[in-house]
Amino acid sequence: MRDIEFYAQVLGLTDPWFVEDVDLSVENKRVDITVSHHEGRLWACPACEAELPVFDHSEKRAWRHLDTGGFPTWLNARPPRVKCPTDGVRQVRLPWAEPRSRFTTAFERLAIDVLKETDISGAANILKMTWDECWGIVERAVARGKAAKKHRVPALIGVDEKAARKGHSNLTLVYDIVGGTVEYIADDRKQASLDGYFDAFSPAQRDTITAVAMDMWEPYINSVKEHLNNAENKIVFDRFHIMKHMGEAVDTVRKGEHSELRWNIETLPSSSKSSQPPSAERRGARLASAWMTLTRKNKGSTARPPKNSRKCGANVVRHGLGRATKGQFQPLAPPLPGLSMERTTGFELATLLLAR
Ligand SMILES: [Zn+2]
Repeated sequence: MRDIEFYAQVLGLTDPWFVEDVDLSVENKRVDITVSHHEGRLWACPACEAELPVFDHSEKRAWRHLDTGGFPTWLNARPPRVKCPTDGVRQVRLPWAEPRSRFTTAFERLAIDVLKETDISGAANILKMTWDECWGIVERAVARGKAAKKHRVPALIGVDEKAARKGHSNLTLVYDIVGGTVEYIADDRKQASLDGYFDAFSPAQRDTITAVAMDMWEPYINSVKEHLNNAENKIVFDRFHIMKHMGEAVDTVRKGEHSELRWNIETLPSSSKSSQPPSAERRGARLASAWMTLTRKNKGSTARPPKNSRKCGANVVRHGLGRATKGQFQPLAPPLPGLSMERTTGFELATLLLAR
């Protein structure tokens, strides 16, 4: 098989296109394929599909194609143009490349596969391209994807914000939860950011939305309320964000109670003439009493309640009953409901005792 036949097959060229020449330059480490077309054919106008003869040719151009044996390979051609009565002088569609692309479709496909695995800079290094060329491929792929997307509203949508990059402002994203696709992206996370999605659809189309999963972010809530009927029954706060907020709330309470407990224990007066609030005194006394109960029930232990009972309570809090239990104490009998004595910290026990 000759090199021109080989490349005609590899490129998938059909009449009227054919490979005219192949030039391998070992010195420049590149392969140049020249593609031409037969005369006397009609070409479709890219706008209206009218069949027209060649009017003239564009300048000779080169498209980057898949490498040949590690050598960057270029496809060279002069694209024909037609003169359409309706659309004017237009360059015809080329079977190997998209309009305005400097790469063959086969090369763009490879580049997109590489871009799925790495970032723009990484892809540019692997493919021996500039950052701008890589970005152009991304932009064209996104435009193709958007053009192919049907204008419809998913029944179940998810709304979330996402940091584009560390230190940069957020983006608003709308997902099709069932299809698992990103439906919409907008700058920022304001109400207007989400409004843009809903505004692209008619009220009747928006009525087909049955649920919107989201964070408890007021601008998003307001946007849904303004655009959807019966919005209160359609908003679903997703589990991830609820758990996140719950965790933060519990942690805030824990920190507050921890410092309050420590203050109560360490300031517990030794005399009955207390200037502290009675509740604080009672709490400290309860802690001390709890410690004494534990040690009394600790069969076989030689532990004694220290003279200064407030320090005992502090120890329960600071070091954790769990750790002390493992080495020194037997579990309480019967154990406190819902608590594993092996895992329960002194703080948890103290909180439980205070709550009783
Ligand atoms: Zn036309």
